[in-house]
Amino acid sequence: MGLLWGSFLGVVVYRTVNEGSPLSGRSRCDKCKKKLSWWQNIPLISFLLLRGKCFYCKKPIDWSYPLIESITAVLFVWWFVVGRSFFLLAGSPWSIVQPVFWLVVGMALLVVFLTDLKYGVISDGVNLFLFSWVLFYRLILVGSGQMMMADLLNAVLSAIVLTGFFWCLWWFTKGKGFGFGDVKFAPSIGLLLGWPRTLVGVMAGFIIGSVVGILLILLGKKKFGQTIPFGPFLVVGIVVALLWGNDLWNWYMGMLQ
Ligand SMILES: [Zn+2]
Repeated sequence: MGLLWGSFLGVVVYRTVNEGSPLSGRSRCDKCKKKLSWWQNIPLISFLLLRGKCFYCKKPIDWSYPLIESITAVLFVWWFVVGRSFFLLAGSPWSIVQPVFWLVVGMALLVVFLTDLKYGVISDGVNLFLFSWVLFYRLILVGSGQMMMADLLNAVLSAIVLTGFFWCLWWFTKGKGFGFGDVKFAPSIGLLLGWPRTLVGVMAGFIIGSVVGILLILLGKKKFGQTIPFGPFLVVGIVVALLWGNDLWNWYMGMLQ
């Protein structure tokens, strides 16, 4: 299942930036545009069978396809073995709704991660999808009494503050150091994490981003002053905050005392 969904997400990444709807038409080679037959279109297996080259034009198949297929497969296995059991405490129907919500969030974050890594953009489509998905879910939770109004306000305030902060970064760097796609990504982050996990997630993103940036400069892959996309680091920061956000916050506050 993970490989199949990963294959779909690979198409989403490609088609949100290039032409076409992710739901229309058969898969084609990115390079020669020939339609792929079924055996050239099996997630991961076809990539291995074809040894990473298109059957027709022999040009290399983009690395992002096997990557997103493998990561989605790992996400699904993790979700099935570990992630799903987080939610088994909640009663029906939340024992189904909650895990599905988080699985879809995981897949949307993967699309953000890879689109920004590959093309240096976070598309409006995925931003809008993620924001509506999280807002809709939060409203349902509050409406059904599963989430307190105060927690929703906390999440909304986190979203507003983070969007303002990213907007300032975008404005001060004149859009060169910080993209507007990140600004549009901010509402979803705040709504997803709330306070203080939003702060933990963004700080983790900045720290991991700087470490990787310095490494890339030291390895001669990037020059000082060149940009690297920030979205992938934000996604990693969000995952860190979701898994260990409260622990990290308590640990940090404990150090200050
Ligand atoms: Zn081809």
